[in-house]
Amino acid sequence: MRTTDVRVRRAITAIAAGRPVVVTADTMRGEQGYLALAADAATPGLLAFTVRHTSGYVRIALPVSECDRLNLPPMWNRDGGGSSAADRVAVDWYGTGTGISATDRAKTIAALAAPTSEASDFRRPGHVVPVRAGDHGVLGQPGPPEAAVDLARLAGRRPAAALCEIVSREHPDAMAHGDELVEFAKAHGLSMVSIDDLVTYRRRTEPQAVRSVETTIPTKVGASRVIGFHDVYPAVSGGEHLVMIIGEAGANAPMLLHVHVECLTGDVFGSTACRCGGELDRALTTMRARGSGMIVYLRPSGPARACGLSGHESPAAESFSQTVAWILRDLGVHTVKLSDDAPGFGLVMFGAIREHGLLAVAG
Ligand SMILES: [Zn+2]
Repeated sequence: MRTTDVRVRRAITAIAAGRPVVVTADTMRGEQGYLALAADAATPGLLAFTVRHTSGYVRIALPVSECDRLNLPPMWNRDGGGSSAADRVAVDWYGTGTGISATDRAKTIAALAAPTSEASDFRRPGHVVPVRAGDHGVLGQPGPPEAAVDLARLAGRRPAAALCEIVSREHPDAMAHGDELVEFAKAHGLSMVSIDDLVTYRRRTEPQAVRSVETTIPTKVGASRVIGFHDVYPAVSGGEHLVMIIGEAGANAPMLLHVHVECLTGDVFGSTACRCGGELDRALTTMRARGSGMIVYLRPSGPARACGLSGHESPAAESFSQTVAWILRDLGVHTVKLSDDAPGFGLVMFGAIREHGLLAVAG
């Protein structure tokens, strides 16, 4: 099992058991750590622990729908001042005293997570700051609130989680970074997981592309099945992809697979300034000769990729590889032979395909 998976699963187990975990995020100021716990597991003891080791500015991440249901408007002013639009007006549960003690904050946090709570159950302003976690969690927006809610959801708890930045013990006037976070987690027996870990885990364990349309069209390599897919998480990828299947894979013969990332100038106009068009042509020629093969044509979101026309970033093979693996799973293609017409893409693709339990034979 990947070490990423081990870290994520340990964190999920801890959250499911009502224990806090350390979530790390890469920020402009370096790695930062948050103590996160399932809101429906909040106790005075856990809040006292949180307040003692963190900034004490405890927030509770909630899905957009819950912020709306509980009437938690953004805490910002129209002139652009104040905090981020994600931060909501602070509240206290009516059943609390002053609202500031660990006991009171635990009650407010648990009440914010309760499905039976109503907007009128809370005083505004209060001492717990709700923060909106974007739809689709870390796959929509890779931030600490999204990571905390994802962990609670994956742990089978209510999608609500308290989180607070961990303070440096060495420099109590600053936040903890890097090694200090590792030491903190170790000293208190806490699991540690990064937002990147969660993104990788979810990309591998949840379908990333869904089939949208299928037809058969005559092409220069013969009648081909053409299947359209689109990305499940529009905010992150949002691409629409095309799979072209030529012929059928034999019972024992692996399907020849060519993965191609759109290049308008190379693919359509035959530009020789890049290798894209040539690679696609060679793959098609090989497939026509063999009578079978499969092209996964990836079209990332945003402006069309066109070498020579606009400076394009090299495609993120890691995220594409998960999309390709999910497309193969959807199509029921179990054994593929990677085409050698797309050098540089093969190794990552090879790894991702095998992780999904599919068989990949090197080209
Ligand atoms: Zn190109």
